[in-house]
Amino acid sequence: MNTAALLAAGCVLREHEPLARHTTFQLGGPCPILMDCATPGQLVTAITELHRTGRDHVLIGGGSNLLVADAGVPMPVLRYLTTQPLIQQAGDVLDVAASTLLDDLCAYAAGCGLAGIEALNCIPGTLGGAIAGNAGAFGKQIGDVVESVTLLECDGRTRHADRAELRFAYRSSSLHETGEIVLAARLHLQSGDAGQLTQQRAECIHIRTHKHPDWRTTPTAGSFFRNVAPTSAAGRRQAAGWFLEQAGTLAMRINGARPYEKHANIIIRDGPCSAQDVLDLSRQMAAAVAVKFGLQLEREVRLLGAFA
Ligand SMILES: Cc1cc2nc3c(=O)[nH]c(=O)nc-3n(C[C@H](O)[C@H](O)[C@H](O)COP(=O)(O)OP(=O)(O)OC[C@H]3O[C@@H](n4cnc5c(N)ncnc54)[C@H](O)[C@@H]3O)c2cc1C
Repeated sequence: MNTAALLAAGCVLREHEPLARHTTFQLGGPCPILMDCATPGQLVTAITELHRTGRDHVLIGGGSNLLVADAGVPMPVLRYLTTQPLIQQAGDVLDVAASTLLDDLCAYAAGCGLAGIEALNCIPGTLGGAIAGNAGAFGKQIGDVVESVTLLECDGRTRHADRAELRFAYRSSSLHETGEIVLAARLHLQSGDAGQLTQQRAECIHIRTHKHPDWRTTPTAGSFFRNVAPTSAAGRRQAAGWFLEQAGTLAMRINGARPYEKHANIIIRDGPCSAQDVLDLSRQMAAAVAVKFGLQLEREVRLLGAFA
């Protein structure tokens, strides 16, 4: 691999890097090389170079929806993330690099009086990860405001795709099937009141602080299972946490892995444990729900690498 070209583009390369350092669960073994890309240009250079040398790769963002295997990942990992928001504004329209943190984007939008993503305040991870999984909260999701995206294909070519092509659905998009990378996105917001949006942001932070663990101090990947699909067209999704709690899963634990006491659908680490422990615990939790309700919960957290 032409590492000089990657370094010249500004990519940061780390060999044998433990992925535990780059996931909010703080779990996961090493990858042969981690290629840190902050800008669209750096990511295009990295993908082009990997394609030229015929190497497979895995892409991650903030690692906040991932459980990475203890043995790690046997291929290069690209991390597309920046803590310097890359946002261009033209009225109500924002062009944003997908490496930008979603919460930085929410703070920017609130500060300049743009409404439409205030329900997404405090969701960890990047805009790219949010678009791939159609992240959302309080009945709103990022797909609602995406107008179009620039996609990066595995040979380094880019192309434009409009919203319809992404087939946004509950916590999913077509990107989970195609594996294409979101390089950047155009979001269409509405003008709102900056003071009110900033107040809403503060309320959202308050609610989340009381309901959810703080991933900076308590390792987790948020909700482990998807909420349960409605049984009729008129119905709403039902919280997976309710079924888990009724099935008695709050008392379960494998080493340091256990459900969060205030939210049965969130698995946290409060002591040493492996990624395999977390997966085994989740399987026990799902089995308890299956026995009590005859319901198969579906995992929301994505697995990376080989598990038993
Ligand atoms: C405390 C906590 C609270 C959470 N609350 C919520 C919530 O309220 N709502 C919610 O929806 N989620 C929530 N999550 C889950 C998580 O934050 C979201 O799923 C987030 O959008 C994942 O983004 P990421 O950048 O971390 O993606 P990663 O976890 O790094 O990756 C997830 C998937 O997205 C893909 N991906 C990442 N970047 C790109 C890109 N640029 N292009 C294409 N694919 C990409 C990866 O390949 C992978 O398949 C929470 C997580 C935590 C830890």
